[in-house]
Amino acid sequence: MAKGAQQNREHQAAVQLFGKTVSKRAGFRCEWCEGDQELRLWEYQPDREPGEENLALLCSSCRELVGTKNPDPRRLRSLRNALWSQIPAVAEGAAVVLARCKEPWVREAIEESFIDEGMKERLL
Ligand SMILES: [Zn+2]
Repeated sequence: MAKGAQQNREHQAAVQLFGKTVSKRAGFRCEWCEGDQELRLWEYQPDREPGEENLALLCSSCRELVGTKNPDPRRLRSLRNALWSQIPAVAEGAAVVLARCKEPWVREAIEESFIDEGMKERLL
């Protein structure tokens, strides 16, 4: 087996160790939109060591949003409350997706949130 694949497998195994803790923290709901469809762990910064701060429990449609360049603003409104989370994977992760939408309410919501100031500057 190639070394990269081996490392990736170990990384995924390490991520799964946080499954119970993160699911409980999330109350078994999507941490972005409170949906409950196909909840899975999502890594905010996959190149980092797995940890609770870097993981969010997300539903299938929020995981899809991560890869969407021009997300539907109506759909994004459900992510607004996630900005108030204390967990970087939840608040910053949602902010990154929200920032792709250029509507004024998105800008305001990110400005009002408690996410890192440097992060806000990069996003806005
Ligand atoms: Zn969701």
